Amino acid sequence: MAREYETVIGLEVHVELATKTKIFCGCSTKFGGEVNTHTCPVCTGMPGSLPVLNKQVVECAIAVGLATNCEITRYGKFDRKNYFYPDNPQNYQISQLYLPICRNGYVEIETENGSKKVGIHEIHMEEDAGKLIHDEWGQVSLVDYNRSGVPLIEIVSEPDMRSAEEVIAYLEKLRMFIQYLGASDCKLQEGSMRADVNLSVRPVGSTEFGTRTEMKNLNSFTSITHAIESERERQIDIIEAGGSVVQETRRFDDSKGESYAMRSKEDAQDYRYFPDPDLVPLKVSEEWIEKIRSAQPEFRDAKVKRYKEEYAIPEYDIGIITASKRMADIFEEASAICGQPKKVSNWLMVETLRLLKEKSMDPEDIVYSPAHLAKLIELVDKKVINSSVAKEVFEQMFADDTDPEEYVNSHGLKQETDSGAIEAICRQVIEENPKSVEDFRAGKDKAIGFLVGQTMKAAKGKADPGTVNEILRKLLGG
Ligand code: ADP
Ligand code: ZN
Ligand code: MG
Repeated sequence: MAREYETVIGLEVHVELATKTKIFCGCSTKFGGEVNTHTCPVCTGMPGSLPVLNKQVVECAIAVGLATNCEITRYGKFDRKNYFYPDNPQNYQISQLYLPICRNGYVEIETENGSKKVGIHEIHMEEDAGKLIHDEWGQVSLVDYNRSGVPLIEIVSEPDMRSAEEVIAYLEKLRMFIQYLGASDCKLQEGSMRADVNLSVRPVGSTEFGTRTEMKNLNSFTSITHAIESERERQIDIIEAGGSVVQETRRFDDSKGESYAMRSKEDAQDYRYFPDPDLVPLKVSEEWIEKIRSAQPEFRDAKVKRYKEEYAIPEYDIGIITASKRMADIFEEASAICGQPKKVSNWLMVETLRLLKEKSMDPEDIVYSPAHLAKLIELVDKKVINSSVAKEVFEQMFADDTDPEEYVNSHGLKQETDSGAIEAICRQVIEENPKSVEDFRAGKDKAIGFLVGQTMKAAKGKADPGTVNEILRKLLGG
């Protein structure tokens, strides 16, 4: 009989912080500039240059640590991790091995068996490497140091996760905290959040961990899920065949659905870590921690609770809206301006979600302002435009934050409010559609729908369907 196996997973998550400048120099962290223009002697490893720690990086790391229930290290250091690679101009990376800024935290996730704590072993700060560009010039590789020195935090979990679902729930929770803090946009596709998955299997009931492998650079939730499933099967097959799993780093190829060995696992001593002599020790005062704590935003759980008390909108909507800081901000501001949370929520839940999906966009990247959404709602309320025109205006607003009022004016989309003019169109439609008129008079109430449609069409959509309906009925003596 085949044995049952349990999957054991721990994650190392790198997050690029959204500070304006790099961790040890004043260069811009902006993504996508002309190659090697966001550089200086420090981030290109020139001899004699000295690093100066960016205070904001420490504040971001502490803020994430507080959100994830970590202890904050009061006396910390930076260490050099020594290795040669052309994207690493100093031949060492400045990181934290011995005294990471945060330790012993946890994140609570929802699983099918209720909520569960995933331990956080530590969070440390480090610098990112440059980027190698292959295949552009034939026989040579190029290097771009714009990313060199961009601040990272690495969040190392305990091996507490047992399935791909738990891993995704954990990553979503982390991402939400970090986005709410504004510490990073956490985009897996663009590399501002990168997850390395450590995985082992063991017979159910066993208390010892099996040998693990590490899979690097998985850039979507789907590829993380596929990698976990395929690696679990691979390890079980090896064990069932009487072999043993080799501790190594593997690369997962999502197009083939397989992983292959990249290198044997290196140990801390391979890197000859030692404290960086160019940086002074980092002292974190109680007051500083308290200042950061008091500036923490209202996180999702607290928001959900408050929304339930303050707004009469469905719980389902609350869940979706608060899952994105950007959506929650739009919801709160637009509701405050127009005083109609239900309508704001509808625009978010229906048209916004539809367009996000259609354009494969992240909710954090919504560009329209809450004030413009509030204005659009008012335009509909005041019957300046009807709801189908509002959808057209909304699409434009969604694309480039167009002012809805200006758009309505410049495109002549105002509703026909002159009831005399509408009545004239109704009479015309009645005249042209004797069959429907007959049907209606014969008791087929549905026929009115067709006539309303024809009138709306004749009015180029710029009439209020309710008013049209009323006038038609009056004219038909209904
Ligand atoms: P190293 O120092 O060699 O990188 P760590 O102890 O720092 O190893 O662990 C790295 C990551 O691997 C952590 O996220 C941890 O939870 C995870 N991990 C450690 N042992 C196992 C295991 N047996 N199975 C799955 N994950 C593991
Ligand atoms: Zn620099
Ligand atoms: Mg490690």
